[in-house]
Amino acid sequence: MYDLVIIGSGVTGYGAAMYAARLELSVAVIGDVDGGTITLTDDVANYPGFKQLTGTELANQIKNHAEAYPVYIETGTVTDVIKDEQNFFYVITDKKTYLAKSVLFASGMKERELEVPGHDELRNKGVSYCALCDAPLFKDKVVSVVGGSDSAAKEALLLAKYCSKVYLIYRKAKIRPEPINARRIEKESKVEVITNTNVTEILGTDKVTGVKLDNPYNGSDHLAMDGIFIAIGGIPYSQLAVQLGVEVNEKNEIIIDRSSRTNIPGIFAAGDVVDTEFKQAITGVAEGVHAAYQAYRYVNETEFVISCVD
Ligand SMILES: Cc1cc2nc3c(=O)[nH]c(=O)nc-3n(C[C@H](O)[C@H](O)[C@H](O)COP(=O)(O)OP(=O)(O)OC[C@H]3O[C@@H](n4cnc5c(N)ncnc54)[C@H](O)[C@@H]3O)c2cc1C
Repeated sequence: MYDLVIIGSGVTGYGAAMYAARLELSVAVIGDVDGGTITLTDDVANYPGFKQLTGTELANQIKNHAEAYPVYIETGTVTDVIKDEQNFFYVITDKKTYLAKSVLFASGMKERELEVPGHDELRNKGVSYCALCDAPLFKDKVVSVVGGSDSAAKEALLLAKYCSKVYLIYRKAKIRPEPINARRIEKESKVEVITNTNVTEILGTDKVTGVKLDNPYNGSDHLAMDGIFIAIGGIPYSQLAVQLGVEVNEKNEIIIDRSSRTNIPGIFAAGDVVDTEFKQAITGVAEGVHAAYQAYRYVNETEFVISCVD
């Protein structure tokens, strides 16, 4: 029996675990990808207290802090969460079942796929979702990044360290990175921004050779390239919460109040999976900390009755 089971081993989950354990809750963290999304970047320069570090370093720092307390960590996938009539939760993984008084969804998002012809056939043959993982494979090659967010801009800047040319292709009129990254993009001569344009097809047979555009660029709707990196946001991992009756918004993000509480007592949510506009490591950690404190209150203020069956 745990006071709190946390689903997700990203910065939000580990930050919450550290706080919960300090509040002397018995806590378990279950996650499939250690460190989560932040490990996709080699440049984190906006987490207070650390001027610059890689995403993996940040995740490890927060995890190490959590591990300074009695936090149980399982590498695994949660396949179901069930609530019983006594307000206990059964958190079921591919390895075992946890009995919990409260649950925190810190489950983040999976990448949104670019749904165009050629995508599925050429995935991992030039179509990638991780510049940090795959950039060295495209040394001195021409690539594109699809997207206009700060993450997309950072992916383009990282790729520019390896590639001869990086197109940043965005469907709207203006990309929207942080000002500091916008200036870096302007200064980086290898990055060329193409706005008001969608990629409608990825071309190639054994490997990516180019893309088709819905708006001609330099007089052509074909753009030759060796790789395409997709950075068009994510889809929240909220399905298990929805099955429990947790309310989500139209984007399937879990709806929380200012203390990371959901509509179901005992279920909390924080980080990229929730209905906040600004999704960063620091905001996720802060929401996770709120959730840990509210779980502490909930566990201490709720009367749990274990009924025995003969
Ligand atoms: C390229 C890029 C660069 C970025 N750069 C920055 C930056 O510089 N600064 C910054 O603050 N933010 C940055 N971000 C955003 C930041 O990474 C996220 O906001 C943050 O990592 C979210 O953390 P999280 O713990 O809420 O979710 P996640 O990191 O997504 O962690 C959730 C984890 O839960 C796992 N999970 C989901 N469902 C289950 C299940 N059923 N069972 C087990 N595990 C499950 C997921 O696989 C994942 O590992 C960047 C994002 C990207 C993509």
